[in-house]
Amino acid sequence: MDTFLNPKRTVAELKELRSLTGDENGAQRVAFTRIWVEARAWLRKKLEALPVEIHNDAAGNTWTTLRGETERALLIGGHMDSVPNGGWLDGCLNVLAGLEILRRINAQYHGRPPVTVRLVDWADEEGARFGKSLFGSSACSGTLNMDEARGLKDQDGISLPEALKEVGVDFERVKECGRELGNAAAYLELHIEQGPVLLDLDLPLGTVLGTFGVERHVITFHGQAAHSGSTPMSRRKDAFLAAGKMGQEIYRIAERHGGVCTIGSCVTRPGIVTSVVEECRITLDQRHLDAGALGRMLQEAGIASEKFAEEGNIKVSWERLWRIEPVLFNQELIALCDEAIGETCGRHHQLASGPLHDAAEMARAGVPTVMMFVQSLQGISHNKIEDTREEHLELAVTAFDKLAEKTMTWIGK
Ligand SMILES: [Zn+2]
Repeated sequence: MDTFLNPKRTVAELKELRSLTGDENGAQRVAFTRIWVEARAWLRKKLEALPVEIHNDAAGNTWTTLRGETERALLIGGHMDSVPNGGWLDGCLNVLAGLEILRRINAQYHGRPPVTVRLVDWADEEGARFGKSLFGSSACSGTLNMDEARGLKDQDGISLPEALKEVGVDFERVKECGRELGNAAAYLELHIEQGPVLLDLDLPLGTVLGTFGVERHVITFHGQAAHSGSTPMSRRKDAFLAAGKMGQEIYRIAERHGGVCTIGSCVTRPGIVTSVVEECRITLDQRHLDAGALGRMLQEAGIASEKFAEEGNIKVSWERLWRIEPVLFNQELIALCDEAIGETCGRHHQLASGPLHDAAEMARAGVPTVMMFVQSLQGISHNKIEDTREEHLELAVTAFDKLAEKTMTWIGK
């Protein structure tokens, strides 16, 4: 029923939002700020034209509900908030596509679709102000660490509970919003890819299989400081030599397993030009969609670090900074997403997501979930240059709408 769907309107509304909430440096819809509140009010006005019920939950997420023949609900999610100087599509494309789909479903089914359809605008997906992303969705899924979140402060020393109070949210009660998932039968999210995979394949759209698991460690090599002139090469205990070998090894490990590995930081001590390095501290970030492969990448990095330490007659120690399991999306919804993309643009492609998204929280909460990615020009996000071709945005709305219709049928089965 494409006649009811107007993807060009979504593009026009994205531009309208950009002009209202952006400046020459990009989007400025940082969560819990005035501009974010204004952006949400702008959205609400558009939603109120439909026969829907709208409310904010205990964590400040906004839920818009179009009641259907059954309480079982199709959820479509996104986030109106952005990073400071952000892009014009990250998060709000999902919400505005959801708005257009609500309009189509309402028109096609005369206000009474076969299943209930709900649009959720998650609060503070980006975590730009407090350094904790996925706030609203992790409160909803129940994975939010309350003790950690309670202590978070922004650059001005304002705590997260204080900032929430400003927007009418009681921090101690945020997890009560989990009850919103009571009738959730499926969760769908459209998002700009934020990477170059679809661009390199010259494809507008892709089906997301899940989000990468992450293992993040500090590796410290312990050698001995020695004079750079008087110490023969054969007598050195050079901590940097082993770290340098690790720098090459992680490329081989990533290639063997099809994951990604990054040494993002390297700090040497004493860190002066005239001394052999006594201590070298590197960070290692490893990511993979498959938990087993991620475990093997970690194990091989451990073995390699021991080997390089032994070769250099030095010691090595490891410390874990953070880890998260891979989150896999629902197989049946993945198949429906492939179908929707295939019908819209002929070819479909499956890929993993490097960044986390609210969808991962819904999958962790046990809601059958899938995401669709649209190609990102330059493969860049969290930057004002973030962009997608307009015809690709329109294809994305069309394909995402087909996915929503297929998912409603799937829920009704
Ligand atoms: Zn996003």
